[in-house]
Amino acid sequence: MKPLLHCTKIVATIGPASDSPDIMRKMLLAGMNVARLNFSHGKYEEHAERIKRLRDAAEELNLPLMLLQDLQGPKIRVGDLPEGMMLNEGDSLTLVPIADYTGQPNTVGIDYPYVAEEAEPGTRVLLDDGLLELRVEKVDGNAVQCKVVEGGLLKSRKGVNFPTLNLRLPSMTDKDKRDLDFGIEQGVDLISLSFVRKPEDIQALKALLKEKGASIPVLAKLEKPQAIANLEAIVDECDAIMVARGDLGVEMSPEKVPLIQKRIIRLCNQKGIPVITATQMLDSMIHNPRPTRAEASDVANAIIDGTDAVMLSGESAIGDYPVESVKMLARIATEVESSIQFINHPPNRVNDAAAISEALHAIDETINLQCIVAFTETGYTAQLASEERPKAPIVAYTPNPKIYHRLSLNWGVRPVLMPGFTGNIIDVVNQIEADLIRRNYVVPGDKILIMGGIPFGIAGNTNFLKIHTIAAKS
Ligand code: PGA
Ligand code: MN
Repeated sequence: MKPLLHCTKIVATIGPASDSPDIMRKMLLAGMNVARLNFSHGKYEEHAERIKRLRDAAEELNLPLMLLQDLQGPKIRVGDLPEGMMLNEGDSLTLVPIADYTGQPNTVGIDYPYVAEEAEPGTRVLLDDGLLELRVEKVDGNAVQCKVVEGGLLKSRKGVNFPTLNLRLPSMTDKDKRDLDFGIEQGVDLISLSFVRKPEDIQALKALLKEKGASIPVLAKLEKPQAIANLEAIVDECDAIMVARGDLGVEMSPEKVPLIQKRIIRLCNQKGIPVITATQMLDSMIHNPRPTRAEASDVANAIIDGTDAVMLSGESAIGDYPVESVKMLARIATEVESSIQFINHPPNRVNDAAAISEALHAIDETINLQCIVAFTETGYTAQLASEERPKAPIVAYTPNPKIYHRLSLNWGVRPVLMPGFTGNIIDVVNQIEADLIRRNYVVPGDKILIMGGIPFGIAGNTNFLKIHTIAAKS
């Protein structure tokens, strides 16, 4: 029987290192399940071309692929510094709103108009992912005078973080709204918003989608202290979550990240919300063909924590080894999954579907299942099965192409696109059996568990489980 591959899903950011059809095909074959399009960079024509190539590659290989549009959100950046600016510890540097920057010496413009109103002596300012640090000394009119605490070369358009300020920024910028229109038009499968602070930020995104008549799931990137303070309320608004460790480590300091990661993953697991662990997972593979042992351990530990997916950023977007990075994640996932027992969180609801989930778990524990087959119109039945973290892989049959691609993110789920099933339950079981054999997922004698809703074709009525033994070939 063909192995059903890793259960942990792989998200790969697409960039110059991965935008050729050949690399895309190789990444898909190596185990990429979700392609992330980072809207902090790139023109629409480039994104449109990438989307087309990704879809063509997935179709050619007959594989599901989720397209994740990642909106930049309210990120503050320094203005253009064509030559960069060398900052040494102890130097003075003045920050002004970008509109007030006219080339004053030792000054940089930042695209936050209220900087002088909010900063006060002692405020921490981090630049370029926290590599450089300033401390505010004095506010004078619209100018914020700072001392350099940690020096380095400040390059053009680098990010600025003010971890302690409650920034007066909208949750979505005008650029985000334009980008969203583009994403809707392109039919992306999931939309993520960066720098979410409160549940209302996600509500606003959902309201915009509704206004435009689009039904696309949404993900909050958790990377601000305010988001961690509002954790549960934000998770309750979302279809998926990202532990965005890059900015989280800047805003909250690196030593806080590991335990926050565990907390977020545990909460998402309890609520049955898919969660992606992101950033620097195999960072050294940007330039090396092998990861450090610490990186391999980090990936393994995120999987043991219960993450649904692990993500590549620079490794696949601008690195020298995009395909090898995907392969390495798949190898680590396969190794870890073969030896650990994932924690099963009992369903937190009291309804028929929850009862079915409990039963699924008990059956998976009791007999050796080759796979679990989920019939799913909306993806809900497959998500229920995934939440149980069963030992057996989940093969999700859906007639809906959107759901086929969207299920790419759910732990342990193998989506299969199938026209709607017809006939009575016996006919349907026969059709499934033939398909599983054709795919080499099962052989005669294997036991499988079938779950779904009868009658077929009605969303959200998961109501049956059947243990089935694959018949001997006649
Ligand atoms: P980014 O988000 O790569 O868009 O910054 C992820 C993170 O901050 O970790
Ligand atoms: Mn970020």
